[in-house]
Amino acid sequence: MGDRSRSDRGPGEHFVGGSRDGLPEPIVAQGLPRSVRIVEVGPRDGLQNERTLIPTPVKLEFIERLGAAGLQTIEATSFVNPRWVPQLADAAEVFPGIVQRPGVRYPVLVPNPRGLDGALAAGVADIAVFASATETFAERNLSSTLNGQFDMFQAVLDRASDEGLTVRGYLSMCFGDPWEGRVPVEQVVRTGRRLLELGCYELSLGDTIGVGTAGQVTALLEAFGAAGVPTSRLAVHFHDTYGQALANTLAALRCGVRTVDASAGGLGGCPFARSATGNLATEDLVWMLTGLGIEHGVDLSSLVATSVWMAGELGRLSPSAVVRALSDTGPPGDTAPPGDTAPPEDTAPPEDTAPPEDTAAGEEDR
Ligand code: MG
Repeated sequence: MGDRSRSDRGPGEHFVGGSRDGLPEPIVAQGLPRSVRIVEVGPRDGLQNERTLIPTPVKLEFIERLGAAGLQTIEATSFVNPRWVPQLADAAEVFPGIVQRPGVRYPVLVPNPRGLDGALAAGVADIAVFASATETFAERNLSSTLNGQFDMFQAVLDRASDEGLTVRGYLSMCFGDPWEGRVPVEQVVRTGRRLLELGCYELSLGDTIGVGTAGQVTALLEAFGAAGVPTSRLAVHFHDTYGQALANTLAALRCGVRTVDASAGGLGGCPFARSATGNLATEDLVWMLTGLGIEHGVDLSSLVATSVWMAGELGRLSPSAVVRALSDTGPPGDTAPPGDTAPPEDTAPPEDTAPPEDTAAGEEDR
């Protein structure tokens, strides 16, 4: 029965997905990596931009379920000033509460030296710092300047090195800035290289407002390569504001990138972007990788169930297309004609509910 063609199937007997297990049929494409490491950012980057405050035990269950679904790197929280990101005010309770799975890394975001104090007290092993590729965002989000931000990172990275921590670098606004518009490629490469030279083992290139397109991604990655940065030290972090996150991810994979950030259920967003659509959904990424025959280690049904559960905690549907298609929140498919089955539009918050800035350190928090 498994080898019947689609035309042999009886009425109402279609398979969800491309095969009986509800997954796309893998067709290995040339010029793509055999495996991809997913950095799951839902508990940090996802939740920090959600307005509904999530209790600590729910966050811990979220992290546990993500690990159970097979995710190997789960960014757990941020040791940011609670005044700036109230959602993550419980970082000192969340991190020690994680029942760590063997082989799984649980990095945390550390915006400044004070955040590093908190992270060290909580016993973290892996941290991430968050930099800006533009002058205006450095000023607005870090109360610094494009060059001045590195003084703060230097202090964090030096101490992290002494303490034996690994440090990942995020670089935001790599493809466009809401105040400055286009961001010169050479400026992104120069800023990114400085972060790597300070001691970050990996640089995650962020399209913070989701305006980038595939040609830009290719051009930026080629520019990093021409500057001597191997793709093994680069990751990508896309937002789906304009529906480009998967196309951009595929462009990055074709350039040799093997690490992709994603957020379960598409949690999160950016207060500077034009819609509430947020991070690339991990489920959407997993669906594409599966279809391309690329190893990722994630059980999609477990992940979808987790995102449906978390959507319930947040009181809204997941914006992920794959979560909707594979869960009861999606259209019924067999019984209703296309175009008549769209779920209610409940994901866009009102104009006045912009979530907090990504890390918002603030001068007084240093
Ligand atoms: Mg993000």
